[in-house]
Amino acid sequence: MVLFSMLAFLHNCLSHTPQRLGCGCRLPPPRRLLAGLLVGWLVIGWSWGAFTAADSARGAELPPTLPSSESALGRASIVVAGVPARQAAVIVERAEEVRRLACEFFHGDSSPAAWTEPCLVQVHTTTESFAAALGCEPPAAVRGATSLEFVGDRITLRRIDVIIAGADTIPDGLAHEIVHVVLADRFTAAPLPRWADEGLAVLFDDAPKQAAHARDFEEARRHRRALPVHALLALEDYPPDTQGQEVFYGQSAALIRWLIAERGIERVMKCLEEAALSGSHEALARHFALDSPEDFAPAWITPAPIESLAASQER
Ligand SMILES: [Zn+2]
Repeated sequence: MVLFSMLAFLHNCLSHTPQRLGCGCRLPPPRRLLAGLLVGWLVIGWSWGAFTAADSARGAELPPTLPSSESALGRASIVVAGVPARQAAVIVERAEEVRRLACEFFHGDSSPAAWTEPCLVQVHTTTESFAAALGCEPPAAVRGATSLEFVGDRITLRRIDVIIAGADTIPDGLAHEIVHVVLADRFTAAPLPRWADEGLAVLFDDAPKQAAHARDFEEARRHRRALPVHALLALEDYPPDTQGQEVFYGQSAALIRWLIAERGIERVMKCLEEAALSGSHEALARHFALDSPEDFAPAWITPAPIESLAASQER
């Protein structure tokens, strides 16, 4: 039996919106061991995007409403709180749809079993409520956070906090965060490498957001600010500065898109399972014959096309 000490790491979900990530929140550094606790690890992810002033004027958070949805097997997988029941039902439907799309794409499973521990999607209509949930004052462009707790190989907590903009019905960060939760189902023995977790989640961002990430990276590459491959693959925490975060997201997404275009998602996922256990360098060398920086150059120079895998269900 695998017993994990309390481990924690942070993964940001960054849009192109330039914002400073200056908040350490309640999160310890990646994989820090907290002595004496054997309860698994906690994952917190953030997603970023535009936030309108109108959100702050929408008033106090509503009491939680907890409509549930029926999964393919008829059990509730997702509950939504923080918005009126009718809106919550729409969000549940969208979240379940993204869950199915993501499960089919990543795991080849178009009828995923219900999560025995449902994922709570807490929707925030004010920055104050969102900040309180995150335990910090997040940058204005932070759009969502995902928390997971593991005991052994069992996920005992799934939670997404998202902030909703203006008159939107569905939070714009929802799909990205759902993907992180879906991916976690497959990476219970060891966490997915950071670059891969974010690169895969970005695939479910809308096309304009993905294009913005791509522009960030291309600009960095032209100005020789791209991350060295060994640094990108080894990152456990995010670059501390906004510019570095933008490069990280764009470069991670570019590499994931290119790998999938080259060999398909099934091979990529097999590679990432090895990467989680033995390291990205070793896994990429074995599965894709990628070793030297020159080997990776085509991923940057001839990027794969952008497509939102959640596009069919856009708001
Ligand atoms: Zn993310």
